[in-house]
Amino acid sequence: MQRRDFLTGAGVAAMLPLAAQAAPSESQPLPAVRWRLASSFPKSLDTIYGASETLAKRVAALTSGRFQIRVFAGGELVPGLQVLDAVGNGTAECGHSAGYYYVGKNMALAFDCAVPFGLTARQQNAWMYAGGGLEALRALYAKYNVVQFPGGNTGTQMGGWFRKPIKSLADLKGLKMRIPGIGGRIMAKLGAVPQTLPGSDIYPALERGAIDAAEWVGPYDDEKLGFHKIARHYYYPGWWEGGPQLSFYVNQASWRALPEQYRQAFEVATAEANQLMLAQYDARNPPALLRLAGQGVQLHAFPKDVMLAARRATFELYEAEAKTNPDFAAIYRPWKAFRDTEFQWFKVAEAAYENFNYFVK
Ligand code: CA
Repeated sequence: MQRRDFLTGAGVAAMLPLAAQAAPSESQPLPAVRWRLASSFPKSLDTIYGASETLAKRVAALTSGRFQIRVFAGGELVPGLQVLDAVGNGTAECGHSAGYYYVGKNMALAFDCAVPFGLTARQQNAWMYAGGGLEALRALYAKYNVVQFPGGNTGTQMGGWFRKPIKSLADLKGLKMRIPGIGGRIMAKLGAVPQTLPGSDIYPALERGAIDAAEWVGPYDDEKLGFHKIARHYYYPGWWEGGPQLSFYVNQASWRALPEQYRQAFEVATAEANQLMLAQYDARNPPALLRLAGQGVQLHAFPKDVMLAARRATFELYEAEAKTNPDFAAIYRPWKAFRDTEFQWFKVAEAAYENFNYFVK
């Protein structure tokens, strides 16, 4: 028995080297590929800009250095708010941006990032990876010659920096605020004057008084950009960004031309970058908030009348847009059903756990 077992085992083992020897002669050598990545973000933001570095490093490592992606910060290759066009027309093979920067092209693109009173980071991931979101948005991005991948999330954002306190809805009248996407449109409905500026342009605009308020992300990034030196009132929550997701864009022809192994490497690296960014924000925001509070920053919740008016205006806008924009309607209807069901679930165990632990002494 022992001898027979030994022979059987030896027979299996003997086959392995043959299979291994056969592999190299059957495969083609993988080509050297060099891509440029146009980021919308400044290099100073290691979290949000860093996602592109994470992607480039991992893709290179997974392809033995044959697939190289060179990252360009916002403004280096193209302006930060023109990344979708740049990738679509092949100026860059890929990019890293935020879908809601492009609501001027199509409001439905905001579902790829954040819409007011929308999903949290976890819910956005659920929708994208397991709820039909990725497929729905890929069909939309195909119109812009782009394939997109989730590329990071900041978690629920802060509501931004205000020179003067916002005590009620009336204080928003005429307020010039940097706030992009649909959030800006809702602010306009509430009487404010929204502006879309890339990250690097916000501080100078606030400093010279061109704007009265600005939102960016949250304590860690906002501290780096220095807004607390100019505006002392820091509001929450960013109701327009419950869980904004960034995106990697790839030019469709460039994607099709990529060897399958490189596509796999790229896709898995986007998933890593997507997860890592949220982890970094969740680890770095808490101490940054404590530092800001220690420097005298005044923390405030938005007044309830602002929150209620904003939510009412938001869903009026969605319903109106769905009537005239078929792309928006096709995504909004199932998204809304998904969101409402998620909220029903999250208000049970998650909310009870969080409320007790955060607020009950
Ligand atoms: Ca923001």
